[in-house]
Amino acid sequence: MHTGPLADGTLDVSDGEPPPSNHGCAAAAPLSPALGELRATPQWHDWRWQMRNRIRSLAQLQSFFPALEQSPGVYDALKVFQMAITPYYASLIQRLDSTDPVFRMAVPQAAELINPPHLQADPLEEDHHSPVPGLIHRYADRALIVTTSACAMYCRHCTRKRVTSARESSITGERLNRIVAYLQAHPEIHDVVVSGGDPLTLSTEALEQVLAAVRSVPSVEIIRIGTRVPVTMPMRITDELTAMLRKYHPLWVNTHFNHPVELTDEAREACAKLADAGMPLGNQTVLLRGVNDDPQVMETLCRGLVRMRVRPYYLFQCDLVPGVEDFRTPISRGIEIMEYLRGRVSGLAIPTFVVDAPGGGGKIPVLPNYIVTTSPTHTVLRNFEGMLISYPEPAMPAPAPRQTALQAVAQPGVWELASGRAEKLAPHPDARPRRKPRKAVCAHAALQPAL
Ligand SMILES: *Cc1c(COP(=O)(O)O)cnc(C)c1O
Ligand code: SF4
Repeated sequence: MHTGPLADGTLDVSDGEPPPSNHGCAAAAPLSPALGELRATPQWHDWRWQMRNRIRSLAQLQSFFPALEQSPGVYDALKVFQMAITPYYASLIQRLDSTDPVFRMAVPQAAELINPPHLQADPLEEDHHSPVPGLIHRYADRALIVTTSACAMYCRHCTRKRVTSARESSITGERLNRIVAYLQAHPEIHDVVVSGGDPLTLSTEALEQVLAAVRSVPSVEIIRIGTRVPVTMPMRITDELTAMLRKYHPLWVNTHFNHPVELTDEAREACAKLADAGMPLGNQTVLLRGVNDDPQVMETLCRGLVRMRVRPYYLFQCDLVPGVEDFRTPISRGIEIMEYLRGRVSGLAIPTFVVDAPGGGGKIPVLPNYIVTTSPTHTVLRNFEGMLISYPEPAMPAPAPRQTALQAVAQPGVWELASGRAEKLAPHPDARPRRKPRKAVCAHAALQPAL
């Protein structure tokens, strides 16, 4: 349908209704009649209208949902962590309490103020790995750019609440220049994640400036956009946007679906446009108590995603940030879900479960144990059904351990130990209780100090 001129003066040329789908959640009537009426108006399909009309206060929320009961702590939570819900995302709410996954992810709760001491604003130590403002360089070959602090919807479980609880602001030209200079000075960076906040809340022109700047650096091979907009404001994926994006290939898009109710016809259409424009789509789900911490829910989500050409990429253990304690699950729940999925679901639909380690340790994949035991001649594996299989190791002798120069490795990791390039990894000397220097030559003294 024709959606009229957008606020930025461009025309949305989306042509007609999405094709009927057998698999979409046939959009249930919104719980709020007012939202139901808005959904029937042309402006509903205009993403700028959705952005401008985000629900930002409890009074606005109550005007759409008069039956909503106010629990007192919500006001206090809102003082700390802001709220924004697009009318579209609010229209997916079916129950006005935390048993509704959309409500739980979007509406502030008093529990966000639970603040045990193990929570930190920046547990991944992203700010420690930020050599220039707005760029995080945690892994040698990848860097992440924070392009804006704004999102279409503020997730109650957000891991970057220290960014998204700030006033909404976008990257400046000066910041972008410094980031480009850093990328030019670091040709080892091949993969740039354009993140935020949500980069697809930027105007198409502003986003294009970022992409063009990053693309101008020859050593950057792939660009990835991390966005929740296909979930919370799918009308943002216009033909105008995809026409711009396709100029910057190879471009990958990672989105953030958490629950099957988010797989609407609108979201399906948004993903189809991105995929048709040649962008491989991945999904990063956060494992959330009371939302998707259930093997069957996760199975439905993952199956639905691959039907939408979205490959489940990561399943994240909740980070230890303030405001998300109520969403955390034990790590064992994630392992249980991985146990359930393997063998039951297409491998294409199975994400990697990762714990983004506190202390800036980075992403650590966690799996059920499939190796039962091992000897030099056989490795005993178990499959998802519990069958034990003996895998005979090759009769050919393994290559001799490498005798390559140990000292050549500046920063050894576990692989360097496994391949014989380094002897040991030890805690930094400052992190250990001081040992008195010994004169006598004994086994201890022969150990090297920390690498
Ligand atoms: C997650 C992340 C990346 C990308 O990691 P992949 O495992 O390649 O998806 C890059 N930089 C930072 C800071 C990250 O947190
Ligand atoms: S879209 Fe991403 S950055 Fe924005 S609030 Fe949600 S999780 Fe945080």
